[in-house]
Amino acid sequence: MKAVLMTAVKEPFTTREIPVPQPGPGQVRIKLHATGVCGTDVHVWNGELPVPLPIVPGHEPVGVIDSVGQGVRSVTSGDRVGVSWFQAGCGRCQYCQKRQIRFCPEPRTWVTNGGGYADYMIAEAEGCTLLPAGLAWEPAAPMFCGGFSAMSAYRIARPRGGERIAVIGIGGLGHLALQVAKAMGHEVVAITNSANKVKDARDLGADEVLVVKNHVGQELQDMGGADIVLSFSPSMKQNSQVLQGLRPDGRLVTTAVSAEPIQADPVPMLFKQTSIIGSAQNDPADLIDILQLAAAGKVKPVLELYRMDEINSVIARLVEGKVRHRAVILQDT
Ligand SMILES: [Zn+2]
Ligand SMILES: [Zn+2]
Repeated sequence: MKAVLMTAVKEPFTTREIPVPQPGPGQVRIKLHATGVCGTDVHVWNGELPVPLPIVPGHEPVGVIDSVGQGVRSVTSGDRVGVSWFQAGCGRCQYCQKRQIRFCPEPRTWVTNGGGYADYMIAEAEGCTLLPAGLAWEPAAPMFCGGFSAMSAYRIARPRGGERIAVIGIGGLGHLALQVAKAMGHEVVAITNSANKVKDARDLGADEVLVVKNHVGQELQDMGGADIVLSFSPSMKQNSQVLQGLRPDGRLVTTAVSAEPIQADPVPMLFKQTSIIGSAQNDPADLIDILQLAAAGKVKPVLELYRMDEINSVIARLVEGKVRHRAVILQDT
């Protein structure tokens, strides 16, 4: 089968023929149709997120199960599924016992089993999620990391009806979070650094667009503030500043990977009772819900489509911030 291999940090990926893998006990083999390309793939490629090499990357895969290992009961050959980052836990730690495998110290992920830039992949059966009928491969794939993360960011803020939500960073995750907030009936402010993204943000459903000039928090406050800020911005300066734009009882949800700290002035936090919440891919129900929204056409990822052997140019586009808004590799082309 054809597979994309990462053999060294910051070196181009190579596309090669390797043997089709066999599923072990509790595992399935999936014939892949599409795999989304995530910003985290860049962190893997440049060594910020170390993984054992060589490895097949790709953690937004969707396809059809074509072989099942011993003891698999939940899914079967012919099922249309996707696989999320955390596939299974050790089963025995307190978090696995609570069915919170994302907190397990020894999870099984794409790093353990190999990822989705290939014709076939192996996954733990319990890491597979059935796709809703009628949801096509291309929009389904990015739901397994980007969409899941966007929905989790929204849900962990415990949003209430009528609350005004601001989204910073209208990229791979942000453009989905914006649509989630709209689909849930909120007034949505899109926050961007570039004036040429205003139309884009409006097309995605933003009620208002804030193009940051100087101080994002001051400028958000000047336009009435927000109850919830969902931040997909890697700028910790902006994540720090935006606290000023929170209304009383406001929540900032941060999702970005950065070595910089967020700075928070405790006095306004005390008087306004605001909070900062970290979020990744939280409750598995968030994934099910974003898949349903995608199947209903209420969340539509904006996609660039590529062949597997174009992966290096996709990574380059991601590094340069050029992807609008999510790239997807199609195995069938
Ligand atoms: Zn990802
Ligand atoms: Zn565990």
